[in-house]
Amino acid sequence: MTTTRSGRLALILAAGGLLSALALLGGCATNPVTGVREMILVPRDQEIAMGEESAPQFEQEFGGRVPNAALQAYVQSVGKKLAAVSDREMPYEYALVASDVPNAFALPGGKIYITAGLMARISNERQLAAVLGHETGHVAALHSVKGLQREVGASVLVELASRIVSADKADAAQAAAKVVTALGTLKYSRDDEYQADQIGIKYAARAGYNPWGMVELLTVLKNMSDSEPGTFGEMLQTHPLSSKRIAEAEAMIKGNAEYAKFSPTAPDPQAAHFIEMRRALEKTVPAPAK
Ligand SMILES: [Zn+2]
Repeated sequence: MTTTRSGRLALILAAGGLLSALALLGGCATNPVTGVREMILVPRDQEIAMGEESAPQFEQEFGGRVPNAALQAYVQSVGKKLAAVSDREMPYEYALVASDVPNAFALPGGKIYITAGLMARISNERQLAAVLGHETGHVAALHSVKGLQREVGASVLVELASRIVSADKADAAQAAAKVVTALGTLKYSRDDEYQADQIGIKYAARAGYNPWGMVELLTVLKNMSDSEPGTFGEMLQTHPLSSKRIAEAEAMIKGNAEYAKFSPTAPDPQAAHFIEMRRALEKTVPAPAK
């Protein structure tokens, strides 16, 4: 068979097409939480790198880490219990950032944050476990990656992720900055939110926490968003709250025989320790200027 110049070009193009088709096939992954096959275009190692590169700038935007080693170790220890029972193995890391605006976030790759503003408004450890479990759920069920794929477009995200792992430091930093900007406006779908609540309940219970902490948490947030809508504006954008969300969480706990041993009114055995930690936080972070 003789190959003409244009014939060779056609072969190369065909091979190129095949390669991208293979790359796409490689991007189809089974969701470890739901078992559903999904189009995930950013490989795990790039997802982790993306989170690592964007973390410093992201943390800065939320006032930096609270400078108290005991508090950080506490948040990390509660988070690690949830990470240990999650459906997706990732280098999960939990930290407390100084912003007084109540919120919590998950970066792709498993870095999870709770703000001082949210920590100050909850009252026991199972509520903290519910917050961290919800965010762990976003990472485990690949919501953060899927959200970014939606937010910036899948092909742009793939390009950014590959630039982040490239040898060119300046280029990697620039790509990470773009990811941070996208993370700032990232909105999860309502379905993702419900699912993250359900996963949070599951992980909290697996880790030995009373899963009613999720209902308590959602109720605290709902009451506060009704009484101080301004403070919660930002959180509501990323985590829409509704009575339906509370009802769904309640229904899940009541509908699962495994959770029957947990009472919604039983006191949290770790509440006293949590309050001690919250007092330490009040002493560490100066009160916000009014
Ligand atoms: Zn969420």
